[in-house]
Amino acid sequence: MAQQDSARQTAEGAASAPASAEPGENLEFLDDTVDAGEREQAHRERGTARPITVVGNPVLHRRCQDVTEFGGELAQLVDDMFASQRAAEGVGLAANQIGVDLRVFVYDCPDDEGVRHVGAICNPVIEELPAERRALDESNEGCLSVPTAYAPLARPDYAVCRGQDIQGKPVVVRGTGYFARCLQHETDHLDGYLYIDRLSKRDRKDALRQMAEGTPRYETVPND
Ligand SMILES: [Zn+2]
Repeated sequence: MAQQDSARQTAEGAASAPASAEPGENLEFLDDTVDAGEREQAHRERGTARPITVVGNPVLHRRCQDVTEFGGELAQLVDDMFASQRAAEGVGLAANQIGVDLRVFVYDCPDDEGVRHVGAICNPVIEELPAERRALDESNEGCLSVPTAYAPLARPDYAVCRGQDIQGKPVVVRGTGYFARCLQHETDHLDGYLYIDRLSKRDRKDALRQMAEGTPRYETVPND
């Protein structure tokens, strides 16, 4: 996911969610804030940045394959994804955004208190929220695969994402604010959907127009 579009930020979203009554309160959430900067740096220094696929590339428009092998190849892919995310100044990146058909995403994203979260999730699933926990936030959203475009998109301002870490251990990550948006956006990628697929026809057209008029500041994979 692209960085927050502060200049064109729409009105602040709905009231922030209460801290109590978390869905699945018995869950053990992963603390992905510890040593966030050091972990992100270690990953990206081992990795190589790759060009980013853009809307129209088939790998972005179909469901990716489940991760079943949690070895050195996956670790290298995740390192390359962190390097690519940094090179493109993104806050989240799914494997198919560097052309790899595998259900894994990485993130380096601030939450609604500005706290930095860094991690990688394999085989992610976004948990359904109970109705009373669904407060929509209508911030702008952008995507490295739709370069230079932004559009407001209503999404729940809180998200719980279940999956596995790169060793295959089950993990549950929760996010607020822009990080909640990121968890949903990246999981959508691995299901074969871009955020523009959730926009009205008119807003989608406008986003594609912004993309056509802009020039990305990072390398992209040309579409045939
Ligand atoms: Zn994206």
